Parts: sequence; C-alpha cells; structure tokens
Amino acid sequence: MEEWQRLLAEGVNNARQWCEEFPEQDALVAKRVDDVFQLRVNKYWMDLMKAKGYPEHLMKQVAPDERELDDQFGFDDPLSEEKMSPVPGLVHRYPDRVLFYVAHQCAFYCRYCTRKRKVSDPESISREQLRRAYEYIAAHKEVRDVVLSGGDPMMLKDDPLVDIVRNLRAIPHVEVIRIGTRIPSALPQRVTPELCARLKPYNPIWMMVHFDHPDELTPEAIASLNRLADAGFPLMNQTVLLKGVNDNVEALAKLFKGLLMARCRPYYLYQADITKGTNHFRTTVEKGLEIMKGLRGWISGIAIPHYVIDAPGGGGKIPMVPNYVERWADGKLVLRNFKGTVHEYPEVAEDPGDPVVMVRNGPYGNRGVTGCEGIDVD
Ligand SMILES: *Cc1c(COP(=O)(O)O)cnc(C)c1O
Repeated sequence: MEEWQRLLAEGVNNARQWCEEFPEQDALVAKRVDDVFQLRVNKYWMDLMKAKGYPEHLMKQVAPDERELDDQFGFDDPLSEEKMSPVPGLVHRYPDRVLFYVAHQCAFYCRYCTRKRKVSDPESISREQLRRAYEYIAAHKEVRDVVLSGGDPMMLKDDPLVDIVRNLRAIPHVEVIRIGTRIPSALPQRVTPELCARLKPYNPIWMMVHFDHPDELTPEAIASLNRLADAGFPLMNQTVLLKGVNDNVEALAKLFKGLLMARCRPYYLYQADITKGTNHFRTTVEKGLEIMKGLRGWISGIAIPHYVIDAPGGGGKIPMVPNYVERWADGKLVLRNFKGTVHEYPEVAEDPGDPVVMVRNGPYGNRGVTGCEGIDVD
C-alpha cells in the first residue's frame, strides 16, 4: 500500500470514526449528515487541522454541520449539469470544451461540494461509460479542451488515470487536457514522482488545483506543486469563496501570493453555488466584489483570479468585476483606480472624420484633463 492510500485508510471515513475523533460532536447529527453526503477526512488533513489547533477555517470545510440537513433553499444540481450531459459523465456546456467526470471519490469531502448528488458514490465508473465519452469527444471535432473532474481524478490509481489521459491524447483534435484536482491541498502524498513521470509524456496537461486557505500551503503541499511544475504541467488554482473560511482580503491575498511562490497561478475565485445543504457557506456577491477591490492593484496582477458566478441553470461562469467606471459619456471614460483616485480616458473617435468627436477626443483637444496625476475626490 502506498503512503497516500494508507493516509486515506487511517483517516475518518464515516460518522462513527468522526465521533471517535471529536467526542463532543452530536452523534445523531454526524450520522444523518453522513447518510446524506459521506464524511471523510484523511489522516494528512486530520493531522494538519490538529497541528493548527482545529481552526474554524479548516474544520468548517470538512466537519458535519446540522445546517446541511435543513437547507430547503438549494438545488441538487445547481448548474444543470445533467441536462447538458450528452452521454453519462460528460457535460458539454461551452462550444469548444467539455467537463469529463471520471471519479466519484475525493481525498476528503468538502461540505460545500457542488456535486453532492454524485460525489462519494462507492461505485467506480464503468469502462463502458468511459468508452462512450471517448466516442462522443472523438465524434465532436469542436472539442479541443477536456477538463477531467469528479470527484477527484487523482483518486484513481496510476493505471486507470494514465489510461484516460492516453485515450484522450489519441484523439487528434483534443489539444488541451486539464485535470481538476484537490489532491495537492488535500493529500499531497498522492502526487508521486512516478505519477508525474507517467503523465508527463501527455503534456500539455494543465493542473487545475484547489486551495481555499493559506494554511493549506504546507511544506508537503508546496512540494507536491513543485513536483507537478517540474514535470512541466502548468498550475492553475481554483478557490471557492466561503463564509467563515476565506471571506476576507488578508486570507486570500496570503493564499494567492503563496501560490505564486509555488508557480501556481490563481485562476478562478468562485462565488459559492446554490447547492442544497450548503447555504450556510454562501457570502453575498457584494462581499466578493469588495474582496476583489481589496486585491486588484494592491498585490501582483498575476496573483489575482477571476471572480465568477457559475450561473444557476447552466449559464456558465460569468465574471463579476468591481465597477471602476464612474462615468462613460461625451467621448471619455471617468475611471476610479484601486486607490480611489479619478482618471479620465478619452476614447478614440469611431469616425475619424467627425470633427466634433475629434475636438472632444483628439490627442490635442483635451490634454489638460487626461488627469495622469490623478484627482483625489475622496
Ligand atoms: C468550468 C467549466 C469548464 C471550463 O471553463 P473555463 O472557463 O474554460 O475554465 C468547462 N465545462 C464546464 C461544464 C465547466 O463547468
């Protein structure tokens, strides 16, 4: 048995084991929560929580909570993935790319999981289901980007994971393969040198990792990111904005700067989906925009992800951007920068022959008000 498999086996895998670790936990709540969506925390993450003194921002991600049971607000399938699924396990929502669900299991179960409806199913995905997905992708020449997801694809053993990647690489129009995984933060020991070496020939494989809090950037996690980067996989991070976990500028700025040090680019910050039983994790969108304003300009641009709402009903990811435009009229934009100072940007004339626009927008017409020094209006 490999180390990562031992850490899984020695972790918490049900309500009884959770209550042994946390005797103050209401056993009935743990049992009922576990019945709806499995409790799992592997030994690596248990040790991490212990070492940090069981802080809320780590505990809340994995601990059973009564509020999971009485949320009448959310949906089982908030992104309408099943409706956009041409064959089981594939979601084809965007023109040139698909999401390919290849594993039910994860190294631990995030209580805010968006796919509670299918994740943690103990069954494995059949060869027949995988074969139909390859057939669909091969028949659809517009699909040039395949996102492996789940569950966690890296929970598969090396052979089946490499097999999937090899099958996709054999389809000539598949250009990019992505692996969406929480393994580097959840069970970094799984990123073995052998796995990296076996996947490397199938590059470009973009590793879409998932860190939610800077405390997850342990020496082991950073080492696993380094192994992936050294094998030539570009690293991108996805974070879910979660109330009581990371809904503040300090935590996210520290996380995003830390990721850069591990050669990992923050890619998406997700507004929490409206998944049944996760309502207590949701922040307001206003809060998210405020956090983005607290990041942009203040830390490296390469550390700043896109803040998106994955639209209910399957609308896809829609960027949420703080408003930096005060006014947009008379051939100019009045902009406010990250520090709050106001700057004007004259637009180019759409019709260069229009003398009025030339006067308003021409390079000499309004030199005095371009405001490069900034006008502080606060
Ligand atoms: C997120 C997602 C993708 C990938 O979207 P990008 O914006 O290209 O990262 C593809 N398909 C589905 C169904 C998704 O949810």
